[in-house]
Amino acid sequence: MLDPTAHTGEAGAADFTRRRTFAIISHPDAGKTTLTEKLLLASGAIRQAGQVKARGERRRTRSDWMEIEQQRGISVTSSVMTFERDGIVFNLLDTPGHSDFSEDTYRTLSAVDAAVMVIDVAKGIESQTRKLFEVCRLRDIPIFTFINKVDREGQDPLGLMDDIAATLALDLTPFTWPIGLGTDFRGLIDVPGKRALLAEERGGPLTRIVPFTDPMDLLGIEGVEERIVEEAVESLSLALGVLPPFDLESFREGHLSPVFYGSAIKEAGVAQLLAGLGGFGPSPLPRNANGRTVEPAESNVSGFVFKVQANMDPNHRDRVAFVRLCSGVFKRGMKLFNAREKRHMAIANPIFFFAQERETADEAVAGDIIGIPNHGLLRVGDTLSEGETIRFEGIPDFAPEILRRVLLSDPMKSKQLQKALHDLAEEGVTQVLRPLTDPAPIVGVVGTLQLDVLSSRLDKEYGVPIRYENVSFVTARWVVGEHADLERFVESNRSSIAHDRDDKPVYLARSQWVLDRAIEEHPKLKFVAVKERG
Ligand code: GDP
Repeated sequence: MLDPTAHTGEAGAADFTRRRTFAIISHPDAGKTTLTEKLLLASGAIRQAGQVKARGERRRTRSDWMEIEQQRGISVTSSVMTFERDGIVFNLLDTPGHSDFSEDTYRTLSAVDAAVMVIDVAKGIESQTRKLFEVCRLRDIPIFTFINKVDREGQDPLGLMDDIAATLALDLTPFTWPIGLGTDFRGLIDVPGKRALLAEERGGPLTRIVPFTDPMDLLGIEGVEERIVEEAVESLSLALGVLPPFDLESFREGHLSPVFYGSAIKEAGVAQLLAGLGGFGPSPLPRNANGRTVEPAESNVSGFVFKVQANMDPNHRDRVAFVRLCSGVFKRGMKLFNAREKRHMAIANPIFFFAQERETADEAVAGDIIGIPNHGLLRVGDTLSEGETIRFEGIPDFAPEILRRVLLSDPMKSKQLQKALHDLAEEGVTQVLRPLTDPAPIVGVVGTLQLDVLSSRLDKEYGVPIRYENVSFVTARWVVGEHADLERFVESNRSSIAHDRDDKPVYLARSQWVLDRAIEEHPKLKFVAVKERG
């Protein structure tokens, strides 16, 4: 259970400094789900394994995966998990594992203050890890590294450190170090804690604790083969000799990552990672917004919507907007100002996301995530405040790379289609483009799996079956410029222009070459691939 004083502080004052809001990034199968579960276990938020569903297993087939997405409840309760340990409240935000959902992931990463990068000890840095790491780097998000599956054969720990450091151009400092890998795995060296964590019996939990002054003291330790200890101590000493010592500032700036070797499945290294997150992980950071910095300690409430999930209950067209609070103390029943809609809304039923059930939130501070049920008023990128018109930076829209014309199976349903596409666009599932010279809408997505999800949801949730037709455009760009220049361009290219949901012009190019030429011929216009929302 959550300690209520962790929410409000001893004296009743809300304490954002005790919040840690983070995400786990990894390549599929590296162990994100398992680690999530063990973090919840270590915090006491859940009692036994198996409660966070092993999505890894299900993801393998498309149809299974889509079925889960349709069972809205599951994906929502695992979107945000709040748990508490030693007076620190952790908000863990889930990032969808599939690469097709990178847009959603980017937006989620805009709402965290730190990330845990999970790496498979045998595989090292994989493509998805690398992509997600680059997003974190772009935002200077501090990163914890968890090198998982040391209970399996893997790469030599020192060599792997070298590899990661070189591939990501990132400084690394070892916090836990494996004593043997695979069948040789005997425990971990807790470097800052100056102790070895060993199994009482082979393969068991690491309950035997052996303190040391210098790692060399571990040589000759009883109960572990000399060869294994020697190798571990030697490679750790080499690592400590060549790698930089831990530096908090460098970590907070995203240049240095503490490395925890461990095994999620065996719960090895998980408590150390959690202690690191709680101990020196950043509390909610200031956020940039139109020309000023919003500090978490400011008394006025502010926050932004980084995710919208619709139709959690298919019988009601409800949606939940996930809001990351950036400042102030939010109280239930408060009226907040939506800068885009320029109107206040009462937040009567905010939701917190606990490991097992949803609970009504009475109070929340910077770093917390609240779910706000609404009927379509809130969309991704929206800012809420107590009256100030704030727009937080860093919530992007990406120019879609896959474009399809949407054709109705039943032409009488055109109104329903419009409404459904509008809803799903607000949720961030797709972008909807309305060509100036063609009544059929074009949908734009970043990954093909999104197309399947879109058509399935249109059919099942809105009763609007559709099919896709290829279009002759390969890419899209928002066109930005002075009004007169823009109008001239739109008029002379009408058959290649569409409007987005904000009625902004989008240029549809038939080839990269055509796009390059348009860019060259219109130096006064900008052709934008990534655009801030709002
Ligand atoms: P995700 O796709 O990143 O969420 O990965 P999962 O947590 O679903 O794990 C993928 C597979 O690796 C599953 O079969 C897990 O049981 C297994 N796994 C996860 N952590 C460990 C570990 O520490 N050791 C071993 N041997 N297997 C693990």
